[in-house]
Amino acid sequence: MNYNTEMIKQAAEQIAEMFKTAVITQQQSSGSMPTIAQVEADLREALRQIGNQALGLFLSSMQTTPEEEITCSCGGILHYQRMREATVISVFGKTTYKRAYYAGCTCKEGKAPIDEQFGLEPGAVTAGLAMLLALAGIGFSYDTSPKWLQAYLLFDISENTVRSETEQMGALQEKREEGLIQQSQDEGYLQQRLRHPGQIAPRLYGSIDAAKVRTEPRAKKGKEKEDHEDWRDMKVLCWFETETVPPSQRSKCQQKKADREQTALRAKNKQYFCDITEANEFGKLLWATGCTVNADLCPDLVFLGDGATWIWNLVTKYYPHAKQIVDWYHAEEHLEVVATAAFSDLIQRKTWLEETTQALWDGQVEDVIAACKALSQTCLQASQAVTYFTNNKERMRYDRFRAAGYMIGSGTIESGCKQIVTQRLKLPGAQWIVVGAVHTAKARSAWLSGHWQNLCALRSALPLAI
Ligand SMILES: [Zn+2]
Repeated sequence: MNYNTEMIKQAAEQIAEMFKTAVITQQQSSGSMPTIAQVEADLREALRQIGNQALGLFLSSMQTTPEEEITCSCGGILHYQRMREATVISVFGKTTYKRAYYAGCTCKEGKAPIDEQFGLEPGAVTAGLAMLLALAGIGFSYDTSPKWLQAYLLFDISENTVRSETEQMGALQEKREEGLIQQSQDEGYLQQRLRHPGQIAPRLYGSIDAAKVRTEPRAKKGKEKEDHEDWRDMKVLCWFETETVPPSQRSKCQQKKADREQTALRAKNKQYFCDITEANEFGKLLWATGCTVNADLCPDLVFLGDGATWIWNLVTKYYPHAKQIVDWYHAEEHLEVVATAAFSDLIQRKTWLEETTQALWDGQVEDVIAACKALSQTCLQASQAVTYFTNNKERMRYDRFRAAGYMIGSGTIESGCKQIVTQRLKLPGAQWIVVGAVHTAKARSAWLSGHWQNLCALRSALPLAI
């Protein structure tokens, strides 16, 4: 929108004059000058009130002379009743405006065309405010959000309003994902995509993990609710690309990697998706979101994981051509467990661990398996490690992976789980209704992935709350 800057200047001059008068009056009566913080606070409040009145006046001014009759959405006829006042909660607080109201259709529905035109629902939050409330809701717990919002917005918002607007954003993200899933199962779309695939990354990574969320107990068959809590897995998936970290920007850990002749890489263009659902259902989301980044068409697709079977099963099913890599740190940890269990002598323990870790680093998984096998008669952890390393042998050719410049740590997805689940869903005392947890996490994932504007556009397009 273009404004007349001259008019804004004039309005500002008037407000400055108003403030000056108020300050002089205060100075005369109390003998003290207000601090800049006081002036800022007062000016913000004045501007909020001005914005509030201006928005109300603007909406009222958009009402043209009402027609006698208009068509009802049912196809019947609505008759003009009167100019009626309505209130919405905007970014400026409770905003009141007047518009023509129609009723008298046989279907008993009434409507105000101005409300429809601007997507307003009397008594409800506007799209502009909804965006800010949801932003608070994905960042802070619902019970503390109102405090933050009061400081920023200068008026009170209830915890329930923050919750419902945040969850609605998540519901919109869920709808987007359902749309993608439907599309990704449509033959016509898939063939069209093969003809015009758009950008294909030369190398793309996928990663999947899960984190626990405390939820309200599920009703169990033939049982009253006995448990006080339940833990459900929030599955999280991330698509990303990597770039080399320039030496000057390396963290200590990245410098250590560089010293070990491993390229210091960091993730970019990260896109997170999540859900509390069975692996099979999650697979559909994996495939659908993969279509948006052309994962299936990428010549060098890499999956990084911690070794959980359900993850590799999904990867093999949907992306059989993908390279599979077990996260280096998880693999290394297995050796530490064996060393601790098998050797009480610290020097023996250290020697064994150094040798096997070096072998693993060099991709000599057979040597690692042999070393564990030698201990497996007397050590349960060692015999478990034999199974683990045997099953994941081909996913641990770290010498080749390093030579090809692949990332071998799954820190990206772990940090995703932390940001989406731990930092928001695992706050002290939090216990979730499953759908609330899912919608909050989906809204947060959309924000972290740079999809927030898409959600805001969908929210603005909503004529009424869903
Ligand atoms: Zn009607």
